[in-house]
Amino acid sequence: MPDFVMKTDTDGVATITWNVTDKSMNVMSLAAFKLLDNLIDDALADASVKGVIITSGKKDFAGGMDLNVIAKMREDGGAQGIFDGVMMMHGVLRKIERAGMDPKTLKGGKPIVAALPGTALGIGLELPRSCHRIIAADNPKAKIGLPEIMVGIFPGGGGTTRLVRKMGAMVAAPFLLEGKLSDPAKAKAAGIIDEVVAPDQLLVRAKEWVLAATDADLVKPWDAKGYKMPGGAPYSPAGFMTFVGASAMVHAQTMGVYPAAKALLSAVYEGALVPFDLALKIEARWFTNVLMNPSSSAMIRSLFINKEALEKGAVRPAAPDQTVKKLGVIGAGMMGAGIAYVAANAGIEVVLIDAKQEAADRGKAHASDILDKGISRKKVTEAKKTEVLARIAATTDYGALKGCDLIVEAVFEDMSVKAEVTKKVLANVGKDCIFATNTSTLPITDLAKASAHPDQFIGIHFFSPVEKMMLVEIIKGKKTGDRAVAKALDFVRQIRKTPIVVNDARFFYANRCIIPYINEGLRMLAEGVEPVFIENAAKLVGMPLGPLQLVDETSIDLGVKIAKATRTAMGDAYPDGAVDEVLFWMVDQGRLGKKSNAGFYTYDDKGKRQGLWDGLATKFPVNDDQPDLTDVQHRLLMAQVLEAVRALEDGVLMDIREGDVGAILGWGFAPWSGGPFSWLDIIGAARAVAICDDLTARFGDRFKTPALLRDLAAKGDGFYSRFAPQQKAA
Ligand code: NAD
Repeated sequence: MPDFVMKTDTDGVATITWNVTDKSMNVMSLAAFKLLDNLIDDALADASVKGVIITSGKKDFAGGMDLNVIAKMREDGGAQGIFDGVMMMHGVLRKIERAGMDPKTLKGGKPIVAALPGTALGIGLELPRSCHRIIAADNPKAKIGLPEIMVGIFPGGGGTTRLVRKMGAMVAAPFLLEGKLSDPAKAKAAGIIDEVVAPDQLLVRAKEWVLAATDADLVKPWDAKGYKMPGGAPYSPAGFMTFVGASAMVHAQTMGVYPAAKALLSAVYEGALVPFDLALKIEARWFTNVLMNPSSSAMIRSLFINKEALEKGAVRPAAPDQTVKKLGVIGAGMMGAGIAYVAANAGIEVVLIDAKQEAADRGKAHASDILDKGISRKKVTEAKKTEVLARIAATTDYGALKGCDLIVEAVFEDMSVKAEVTKKVLANVGKDCIFATNTSTLPITDLAKASAHPDQFIGIHFFSPVEKMMLVEIIKGKKTGDRAVAKALDFVRQIRKTPIVVNDARFFYANRCIIPYINEGLRMLAEGVEPVFIENAAKLVGMPLGPLQLVDETSIDLGVKIAKATRTAMGDAYPDGAVDEVLFWMVDQGRLGKKSNAGFYTYDDKGKRQGLWDGLATKFPVNDDQPDLTDVQHRLLMAQVLEAVRALEDGVLMDIREGDVGAILGWGFAPWSGGPFSWLDIIGAARAVAICDDLTARFGDRFKTPALLRDLAAKGDGFYSRFAPQQKAA
């Protein structure tokens, strides 16, 4: 079946139904756009057609543009290919908007209405915005908006120009610059859609509107005489304030590293100075500019294409379906409680065990608290809360684990406690049950020794807070079998998170990379680099938290614990004495980080972070001579990136896609870069080698160029061209 099908009723109303048959959600392709164009031509040319309804054959309207298509446009035609493709889309949407009306009198057009049964995102909203009216079904689950900025682009199908012309730059800003999504009621209140009706009335009301529409109903404000932009044009006093404010806001939010946000603002500003059709052309040029930017293509590749591929099982071994039916969670502390909640919320029956009943109950109460917050925000109903809580059985009785097909253990980080718990669990579950540990530091292969079935033993490493963090790191011990990996992946899919699969090694992947980042910040502090400079340098390169804030959040005593364990494991080879000096001293001062309301930062009584603690200078005086910003940033980035390369060299990481997606979702590695491997590809291996050689000479062997990177530089190769040839940049 073609993506769009048109059927005309006897009353002269044609309905174009969008239904991409091989996908669960409609996504737009160039071919489908051309098909839509032909159907619109037919409807406008057919005298028996009075008007058109555009709707969907699915429960939602559309998820947006197929970003694989955008990637292909770039590959096939470069900048010109993208620009031509985008202008073709503008042509179709503008044709819908003008609907055959006389360009001078603005009369004689045919009414075209969009009827949205559910979610309408990206081009799935830009197409309706070119129609004369948007009617949505009253479906509180529906999300309506333009989220393109989240993957490093901006609404380039006329969405930017149309929204700004309708509501003004300031009011449109959160929808464009933050990708804010709304349910139908909120979208109507904001003026993004026109009407919300009962779901069974959607098409009835759409038809009624088409049949009653007048010529004036079809004329967009910007096509009418005397149109003025709401909020003022850029050169008006109000407009001037808007654009100065918006520029400052964008810079504060993006630190200037996201090309899409800047390009969007340019498209809005320049577009506001010219007539509508020229504004669309300007939007298309900036959109092309963004798509040609390596940062945007890397973001699309990691945050959309590869993230989705991993979620859909790109690295899943062939094994029968392992959907989890009954989950056992052992340890109802911070992590266990979170894991129990996300599983129960996904419809899985959960047995939550702790050593004491009060602890188990506290774990379940955590789920209740999260659901209550959802209720207060009107995201969760009382009925849903009752249903989710009913799925969690909080107990101390290991006998309740009978029938569990997956266990996630989250007890204290102690080898012998974990071994004892493992034995107790395995005595109470069936022989096929997969056992997973949420350890963050203990080797999976060693923990698996407590099981008679090490092939059924695996690491499933969640990040804190579990309900918010999207990444789950799955760790294979030496003997972990395919079914255990498939089970872990199927579980992660059920709870709608993004998995990466790595091999067992100290700190696995994410912590292995993040610890050197924190350590590099601490070293600089000890060297006399101004602390606020360290923090800002990190943020200016796109890290969400500076290293000192990050260690405050994760707790400084945890840093000490990890340092001690690493030192014991590495003996004389331990390289981080300078770091320990800082960490140990902080703990001696009773400053354990955010949790103790005192760390590298100061906090008020309510735990709100204030400035950096000025007592730092008493122990680590600030040098008069401060380093270059680039030096500080290269040290902070390379500390993480080189660890990622070493993880790939060591075989811990098996797929660079996982390395990039995991870095962004796991610890917020500069998302604009697409991840550590994408960043290295953007700067090129030769430049990366030059930076490493320079840093090694000045700061030590921790920056030594990995052999793999040197080899890529020697051969003029890149990570994606060598390791994922089918994964060219978008
Ligand atoms: P926590 O101290 O908050 O919770 C541990 C829970 O286990 C406690 O409720 C405790 O009563 C219970 N417990 C201890 N021994 C038990 C036993 N023998 N039988 C039953 N219950 C027992 O710890 P947490 O932060 O939730 O961490 C749990 C695990 O998750 C650890 O292995 C930790 O390394 C790992 N982890 C923690 C984080 C984090 O950010 N906190 C992140 C990833 C992984």
